Amino acid sequence: MLLIHCPYCEDDRPELEFSHAGQAHIVRPTDMDGLSDEEFEAMFFIRDNPKGIILERWRHSMGCGRFLNAVRHTVTDKFLKTYKAGQPRPTDKDIEDLLK
Ligand SMILES: [Zn+2]
Repeated sequence: MLLIHCPYCEDDRPELEFSHAGQAHIVRPTDMDGLSDEEFEAMFFIRDNPKGIILERWRHSMGCGRFLNAVRHTVTDKFLKTYKAGQPRPTDKDIEDLLK
């Protein structure tokens, strides 16, 4: 069973308690009216789909209900780190250290 660490509950919980909520750290423009159709499409629909590390939002929907962010490897499905929503994204150096 895949366990995900909830940084709010401070516990490793079964994956079934969590809901995937998309890519993390998406910066939405403040001036939506000023976007072209292509810029809007890119902002709204286009997401990273790497073979390797991705930063994602998850929700502990069957637990505390709070949103969190995760560093996950898409090939191994291993969660390298979870952290509270609103905390800064890990640096490239942080991610390199997680992979060691
Ligand atoms: Zn939780």
